[in-house]
Amino acid sequence: MVVGILSLTATTTAQQSEGDPSLTEVWNPEPTVVTPGSAMMPPSDAIVLFDGADLSNWQHLDGKAAQWRVGEGAVTVVAGTGDIQTRQPFGDVQLHIEWRTPTVVEGDGQGRGNSGVFLQKIYEVQVLDSFQNRTYANGQAASVYKQYMPLVNASKKPGEWQVYDIVFAAPRFHDDGSLVKPAYVTVLHNNVLVQNHVELRGPTLYIGESSYAAHPAKQSLLLQDHGNPVSYRNIWIRELGDD
Ligand code: MG
Repeated sequence: MVVGILSLTATTTAQQSEGDPSLTEVWNPEPTVVTPGSAMMPPSDAIVLFDGADLSNWQHLDGKAAQWRVGEGAVTVVAGTGDIQTRQPFGDVQLHIEWRTPTVVEGDGQGRGNSGVFLQKIYEVQVLDSFQNRTYANGQAASVYKQYMPLVNASKKPGEWQVYDIVFAAPRFHDDGSLVKPAYVTVLHNNVLVQNHVELRGPTLYIGESSYAAHPAKQSLLLQDHGNPVSYRNIWIRELGDD
C-alpha cells in the first residue's frame, strides 16, 4: 500500500515537470496589505467600535447617546437603559468582541449573565454565563439563538474575559423581497470553533419558527440589555467586500 502511494506520487511529480507553472499563478489583483493586530490591537484595516473609553459609535434605538457605563477599559450594560447599536450599519463583516459576565453569580439559566451580539440587529449570537449553568442548548453561550447550539461549550468562568470572533455573511434579497440567499455565520469562542458557517433560518426569535423578511443590505450591530451587567471591550469590525 505504501509502495502504491509512493509510485503515485512519483508519477504525479513526473507529470508536474511538464508545462508552464506560471499559467496558474495569480499576480493580479494582489491582496491588500494589512498589519495584523495582537491581543488588544486590531488589524490595521479594522473599524474600532469601542476602544475602552469612547462610546460615541453607539446609540440607543431611539437615537439617544448610549447610557451604558464606561470604565476600566470596558463598557457595561446598565439594566433598563436598553440595547445599544452602532451608528454605522454593516453588511458582511468579521467581528471581534470581548465580553465578561459578572464575577458575582446571580440567577440561573437564561438569567445569568445574559446579553447578546446581534448582527444586523436581528441575528443573535448569544452571550450568557454558560460555565456550569445549564439552559437549553440552543440558547447557551455561542449559540445562534434558538437555531444552532454551539459545537462545544468553550466558556470561561464568570468574571473572566471571553472572546468571540465572528464571520457574518448577510442575507441577500431580490427587489420583490424574496430571498436570494440566507445569512451565514461562523463563530470562534475563545479561539475554539463553535459555529461552522451555519445557515440562518431568519432572525433569531424568542418564540416560534423564523423566516426571512427583506431588510436593508446594511444594518447596525446591536448589543443586548437583558438586565444583567455584562461587560464588553476591544470591539472591532472589518467590512468584507460584496460578492
Ligand atoms: Mg441574549
